[in-house]
Amino acid sequence: MESTELKQDRTIFEKIIDRDIPSDIVFEDDDLIVIKDISPKAPIHLLIIPKKPIKDIASLKADDQAIAGKLLLIAGHLSETIPGAKDFRLIANNGASVGQSVFHLHFHFLAGKAMDGF
Ligand code: 5GP
Repeated sequence: MESTELKQDRTIFEKIIDRDIPSDIVFEDDDLIVIKDISPKAPIHLLIIPKKPIKDIASLKADDQAIAGKLLLIAGHLSETIPGAKDFRLIANNGASVGQSVFHLHFHFLAGKAMDGF
């Protein structure tokens, strides 16, 4: 019973990780998955998602240091391996009021067009 309840509480990203809903997967290993955003804001718009269901950056614990670092390292790897992604922008929304809509930590990897500075 408990596992059924937990299953229902899963975010869209957990369902993607579990292959319960489809996505366009660009990279995957034991700790993280990189998928194409379903509603891209740039020619290259990827989501870098840890498999561990951490809610947001503010919820990271000391134990998560390795995975937090890995999320950044993969961004460099994507930049080197995806044509047109040498320059990129990483965004992580932390909280609904700044635009977070999926409460499972993720970085937006945006590239392929010129972007204004903040
Ligand atoms: P947030 O708004 O939380 O920072 O980012 C969530 C992102 O997830 C959005 O850019 C949205 O387009 C993307 N997204 C939401 N649902 C899906 C889905 O089912 N598949 C994929 N690939 N991306 C999704």
